[in-house]
Amino acid sequence: MTFAEKFHLRIPGPTPIPPRVANAMNAPMMGHRSKEAGELFVEVSQKLKPVFGTHTDPFWISGSGTSALEAAVVNCLAPGEEALVVVTGSFGDRFAKITERYGYTIHRLDIPWGQTCTRGQLQDALATHPNVRAVFLTHCETSTGILNDIQALSNVIHQHSNALVIVDAVSSLGAVPFAMDEWKVDVVVTGSQKAMMLPPGLAFLAVSQRAWNVIEENPSPRFYLDLIAYRKQLEAKTTPYTPALSLLYGAKEALTMLEEEGLLAVYDRHRLLQKMTRQGVKALKLELLSEDEIASPTVTAIRGDGTQREADALRNAMKKRQMIVAGGQQQLKGKVFRLGHMGYCDPQDVITMLSVLEMGLADLGVKNIFGRGVQAAQEVWFQYV
Ligand SMILES: *Cc1c(COP(=O)(O)O)cnc(C)c1O
Repeated sequence: MTFAEKFHLRIPGPTPIPPRVANAMNAPMMGHRSKEAGELFVEVSQKLKPVFGTHTDPFWISGSGTSALEAAVVNCLAPGEEALVVVTGSFGDRFAKITERYGYTIHRLDIPWGQTCTRGQLQDALATHPNVRAVFLTHCETSTGILNDIQALSNVIHQHSNALVIVDAVSSLGAVPFAMDEWKVDVVVTGSQKAMMLPPGLAFLAVSQRAWNVIEENPSPRFYLDLIAYRKQLEAKTTPYTPALSLLYGAKEALTMLEEEGLLAVYDRHRLLQKMTRQGVKALKLELLSEDEIASPTVTAIRGDGTQREADALRNAMKKRQMIVAGGQQQLKGKVFRLGHMGYCDPQDVITMLSVLEMGLADLGVKNIFGRGVQAAQEVWFQYV
């Protein structure tokens, strides 16, 4: 009925790789201390700047997104210091776990999953914990599909403290506008396998001057994750250790694709995919986990209806038809399923995804469902162009 290898990967990472990025990664290996490699590193760093919204020089660690989360923790916090971690889902929770594991005194601001952190909630937490040296935030909380307002939250932090503002933007950068300099964010980290259209294995970071001042004074031991080594080596057009060169060939190509489409058009496309997905899901009478106003353009979380249409049953019914979507994490396990629509994803992909979702609902006994979600999504797309 279908080709075994032609499945549709609609999970919130890893995401599909554009053919020209896959081709670029097949280029022959070269020495990472060569002149050619140096030119590649400078080019990738330059091309990352508009994605982060910074004039600083972004760089990378060969490792998954979590390596950069850990790097942010060990470089920015010194022994005995306190930090505030805003937890809006499982990735905020990961930031908290890393800081705890290193023995820092952390204060968790736990927000009900499916909601964003408000200015007031953050302000209250800062008032209760006036000594925090860093605040950890998540831009898109991939486990729930919400998008925290980093500009507003960063403002609150600067008004009420001297804490560094550290943001996990792993599942948003490259799909959602980010203005690191303007929003006064100190450390931003992202990963290769979400909206950046690359395989897993690279984490990209940008660091403000304010954060570098803290990092330079920080006596915490670190070696592979010592960000100062990465900055110093990038200035010399190289990297401290052998980087994932093939992924960097791909990164140059993927960033060129973002430039060619135009970042604003890329952001518009993700808003369109978000809207098509949500309107389609609503037309199928499924319940979305969060409100439209706080929804992420990159991933949508949907509740089962709590009866026979359990989230996992629906997900398995879709998998039977080569449509791979994600389940819930931690407290949302079995309670939600998640549709990824970031990176190399276009409106046609969303139409296909909804059509298979309808077939899954039909499998579970829902009558007269074919075409309803698809139609709602078509209407959104039709009006858009
Ligand atoms: C995917 C993701 C990460 C990093 O996960 P890795 O598996 O380490 O790449 C971190 N934060 C968020 C918000 C994510 O979506």
